[in-house]
Amino acid sequence: MFQQMAADPRTAWIFQTYAFLLGAIVGSFLNVVIHRLPLGKSVVSPPSSCPKCGHRIRWYENIPLISWVALRGKCSNCKTPISPRYPMVELLTGLLSLAVYQLPIPLADRLALWIFVLNLVAITFIDFDHMIIPPQLSIGGAVVGFASSFFTGTVSWQSSLAGALGGFAVLFGFTWFYGIITNKVGMGGGDFFMFGMIGSFLGAYPALPAIILLAVLQGSVAGGARYLWAWGTGQIAEYERQMAAAPPPPPKKEGADEDDDGEWIEVPEWQLIPFGPFLALGALEYLFFGRTLIDWYMNASRWLVDRVL
Ligand SMILES: [Zn+2]
Repeated sequence: MFQQMAADPRTAWIFQTYAFLLGAIVGSFLNVVIHRLPLGKSVVSPPSSCPKCGHRIRWYENIPLISWVALRGKCSNCKTPISPRYPMVELLTGLLSLAVYQLPIPLADRLALWIFVLNLVAITFIDFDHMIIPPQLSIGGAVVGFASSFFTGTVSWQSSLAGALGGFAVLFGFTWFYGIITNKVGMGGGDFFMFGMIGSFLGAYPALPAIILLAVLQGSVAGGARYLWAWGTGQIAEYERQMAAAPPPPPKKEGADEDDDGEWIEVPEWQLIPFGPFLALGALEYLFFGRTLIDWYMNASRWLVDRVL
């Protein structure tokens, strides 16, 4: 019923508008999740208020996209600036919700992928802010992905299970191996669970190899750009001066709390690049352009093989 109406070009725009607006409203809720979940606070209560003056945000001050513009990005009471990231998350979620709605697949499949995409938005911004991926989103998301595979046709439950376990195992194995070779920590445990969550929604093959390739390529480019920027603005020279003046404290004693924030102090900012946002970006690119990207990749490698061999 819904699909037939949506397919009618005269009424399609109504459903597309609903998909975007519903997405923007959920994006407003994701802002709360992004802010509160990593702090261990409830995402449903208390109602939002200004962090500076405690002014309770009224319903008309909380309309996605519109209120931020109407308030000119400031608290109505104390005029403290409100980050433009709030309306940006709402806009992004609205556009992604519209994009999922437009996918030429059954409604149940689109609903499952909608939950997946919302999860990716929340994880991305939490990982940017705190360098962590809450297990409620990664492991909880993987459970939802596996459960939804019984109601959808995008992936079989076998492929979903293989994707969840395989996604986790691949990154866990890679980081373990990397740790043995370099004695460094390459990725956090949150990334393993997140990749498993991605596999539970998109299946193991060809999703996982395609997504890890996209994530590593783009993550490397971003990491390189971040390093060049730190170098160009003199942050690296400044950091090296400080390190030379005050050598780092001796390593912690056995049994010290490993989660202690102390050990992160010496890590310079330009080295702290979260990987979760790049996994999310790769997953979205695969979801919306996967077929095109894989065809392009196959043609390019065939072309290369023909020329070289
Ligand atoms: Zn205020």
